[in-house]
Amino acid sequence: MSPRHILVVFLALLAVAPLALPPFYVTLLNYIGLYALVALGLVMLTGVGGLTSFGQAAFVGVGAYTTAVLTTRADALPAWLGWLGASPWLALLAGLALTLALAYLLGAITLRLSGHFLPLGTIAWGLSLYYAFGSVEGLGGHTGIPDIPPIRVFGTPLTQGDHIYYLIWAFLLVAVWCTQNLLDSREGRAIRALKGGRVMAESMGVDTARSRMVIFVLAALQACASGWLYAHMQRFVNPHPFGLQMGIEYLFMTVIGGAAQVWGALVGAGVFTVLKQWLQDLLPGLLGQSGNFEIIVFGFGMVLLLHRARRGLWPVLARLAPVRRKPRQVDMQAEPLPRRTMPPRGEVVLKAVDVTRRFGGLVANNAMNLEIRAGEILALIGPNGAGKSTMFNQISGVDTPTSGRVALLGHEVAGAGARRCARLGLSRTFQHVRLLGRMSVLENVAIGAHLRGHRGVMAASWRLDRAEEARLLAEAARQIERVGLGGHLHDEAGSLALGQQRILEIARALASDPCILLLDEPAAGLRYQEKRELGELLRKLRAEGMAILLVEHDMDFVMGMADRVAVMDFGEKIAEGSPSEIQNNPAVLEAYLGGVDEE
Ligand code: ADP
Ligand code: MG
Repeated sequence: MSPRHILVVFLALLAVAPLALPPFYVTLLNYIGLYALVALGLVMLTGVGGLTSFGQAAFVGVGAYTTAVLTTRADALPAWLGWLGASPWLALLAGLALTLALAYLLGAITLRLSGHFLPLGTIAWGLSLYYAFGSVEGLGGHTGIPDIPPIRVFGTPLTQGDHIYYLIWAFLLVAVWCTQNLLDSREGRAIRALKGGRVMAESMGVDTARSRMVIFVLAALQACASGWLYAHMQRFVNPHPFGLQMGIEYLFMTVIGGAAQVWGALVGAGVFTVLKQWLQDLLPGLLGQSGNFEIIVFGFGMVLLLHRARRGLWPVLARLAPVRRKPRQVDMQAEPLPRRTMPPRGEVVLKAVDVTRRFGGLVANNAMNLEIRAGEILALIGPNGAGKSTMFNQISGVDTPTSGRVALLGHEVAGAGARRCARLGLSRTFQHVRLLGRMSVLENVAIGAHLRGHRGVMAASWRLDRAEEARLLAEAARQIERVGLGGHLHDEAGSLALGQQRILEIARALASDPCILLLDEPAAGLRYQEKRELGELLRKLRAEGMAILLVEHDMDFVMGMADRVAVMDFGEKIAEGSPSEIQNNPAVLEAYLGGVDEE
């Protein structure tokens, strides 16, 4: 069976469920749909983006309370607001707009926090909003707001469970579809790259602060829509379902289903809701007393799950199901992306003047001067700890020099950030490879082409970006072919040998169409034949006018390839010249004597 067949069967089952099932189960399915809509946002936010939020229930509350107030108390509101209460649909728009503004504000405050401060931040505003629902005058206090009108669709009020069932699941399925589209796009790769660390993503031109905000706002909007549906299903709201406990339960559902999987949100919400219901019925009878025993059982279940199946249930289910996945087709006929005009051969592309970088008392780079020209390979060598990688970071915008200047094509870039350098045409690889191990080789390389595409989140969600996407993927495939990894297009990047992962990073760097390439130990871990092929590739790039800075330990490799060699020791440049000059330089021989530096 193909995934499409399974989907058709699933949709057919969904369509007939309310006809075949007793009302109790339809209600259960309604809840599953509502919860899954929230969990889906968390899949993107937490599972894919790595940002943990305990506060989603509060956004559900914003959606629910906005519509409750507007549709029941419009007369008490000023006219410019009151008209939004004329229909629940207008109230939905109002709720989404309010959520957008609120999420943007909360995101601006919290998303900058890192580590455990971010989840703590979400708990803080989650609690504040919850207490606001209970305390703000006009929201009905802890008794809540009754008499919420039903939603009307084509004039028909959705008063019964099996009516609103179709609306809830339509919302959910559209959200699933849009999320899947988004993740499978240029913006989606930028979002998925967040987990690879900010340095890598920013070096590929991704605005990570923006990507974080995008998923935060989208997750909040989905929660808001769920709250709107909930309010009109219950026809009544009070603060209880929007508290921290529910925020935690949403997170549980996401993790149970498989935090990085779109369909995991459904599985998680389904399993959680059904199990909870079942345990609530079963346990008190079994234990002979009443109480919230299901929560205790759940707690232990969660711990067990985190030990046994950290990626959740969806990957387990996907393995059991007889599904054959076709690898994604790349349309090599897609129109090639436009290319940058390369600086003329011999022109200085990058110039570092007196760059110094101190870490506390340690001077990792001391008054370093480097000049790299178009169409040449400059090798930077030196013993371990000499400061080569630090120098890389100073000239690629990743780090800010303590003092000194860096000019890239005449633009001052010291401290300007990695994204600015990427935009100007600088691309790099990392000494310690930074790949998304679970993403395919193709997608990893496509991240490199981020700045060569322009379609945004909305276009991606509704699949209006497909022409551009085809061009980006074709470009990625071309670069993969070029570096000799053509046979691994659809393999997971993490499954490649380390040497191949380094080569993959070169393909990713090339996908940005750079005019200067910084390679930090690209030949480490390569076999003899692979090294030769890498050498050929670098020579070819040089012939095309690329400026290349190469940090490398393999002296044969360096000396056979570089036009010039700069030698560093203790943060300073101790020599610079042609390979033969360097090989006979006494200071260099001194630096290399004794202290051999293989990593
Ligand atoms: P190389 O790449 O030549 O092996 P590095 O540039 O990685 O050398 O390191 C140069 C020196 O700077 C080392 O002593 C290293 O410990 C130190 N160093 C590098 N990065 C940092 C940092 N972020 N904080 C403190 N010290 C650092
Ligand atoms: Mg290094």
